[in-house]
Amino acid sequence: MIPAATRYERASDLDHALELLAEPDAKAIAGGQSLIPVMKLRIARPSVVVDISRLEFRGVDVRGDELHIGPLTTWDELLDVPEFGRPALAAIPECARGIGDLQLRNMGTIGGGLAHADPASDMPAVLLTLGAALELRSPDGERTVPVADFILGPFTSTLADRELITDIAVPTPLPGSGSAYVSVEHPASGFALAGAAALVGPDGGARVAVTGIAGRPFLLAGDDHRTALETADVFGDRFASAEYRRELASVVVRRAVERASQRAKEDS
Ligand SMILES: Cc1cc2nc3c(=O)[nH]c(=O)nc-3n(C[C@H](O)[C@H](O)[C@H](O)COP(=O)(O)OP(=O)(O)OC[C@H]3O[C@@H](n4cnc5c(N)ncnc54)[C@H](O)[C@@H]3O)c2cc1C
Repeated sequence: MIPAATRYERASDLDHALELLAEPDAKAIAGGQSLIPVMKLRIARPSVVVDISRLEFRGVDVRGDELHIGPLTTWDELLDVPEFGRPALAAIPECARGIGDLQLRNMGTIGGGLAHADPASDMPAVLLTLGAALELRSPDGERTVPVADFILGPFTSTLADRELITDIAVPTPLPGSGSAYVSVEHPASGFALAGAAALVGPDGGARVAVTGIAGRPFLLAGDDHRTALETADVFGDRFASAEYRRELASVVVRRAVERASQRAKEDS
């Protein structure tokens, strides 16, 4: 379908973007990979699309004991970050590499993926295990929201109308840690039927998050991941029943933990 008529404005800086977003039904656009399809379906009919793709929030840098990922960093750009060569952070490029196709990875951004809040999106699971937090900016100021509190449900987040994600802060894992992301994808859409991220620390303890099986990606409570999955509120659809998704999740969780444990031995 053809999107409803709209206006296009390119923001020159953050203040300009927030000013443009003051218009009722204005919508930010970064890579357009999720927004354009929903505009074509006329699920979204923004009065104006505010292009934020030229803002400075791109790339990865280390500040103190945190890594900061700019929300405008594309999936492809996440593949070549020297810091992610560390086994403790290997889950980030491993996850990014499996997202969509080449065009999607060249255009789609990590911030756009988070804001879209697809319940089967891959990277939130990785960011959950790493304990990442988002910096959100609006005309009212700035706030920090852990990724665990950001996605509320399918396509729903805590993001307010005139708020933008301006930073993704990832605490540097302890030496001797390893991370991994494993998923089983739907053969047509490429989205995860079940995906699992794991961060294994130097003491052997694992923090695990899953995606694709519920209304939002979530952390598994406790050390007994199988029991945590048995009590989780898993959904089924015409592609995969809840029972099948739960079983698949237990397989990807086991594989992610095994791979992350192996990587922890290589991390220094
Ligand atoms: C064919 C296809 C395959 C895909 N496969 C996968 C997959 O396998 N795994 C996966 O996880 N995802 C997948 N995706 C989703 C993809 O990751 C997202 O479309 C992409 O990351 C969105 O980023 P974008 O920059 O294009 O966002 P846009 O489309 O520009 O924006 C999406 C939403 O985010 C908002 N937004 C964008 N940037 C910001 C910001 N900085 N602050 C606040 N709000 C913002 C926009 O207003 C809009 O509501 C797929 C998408 C397509 C079309």
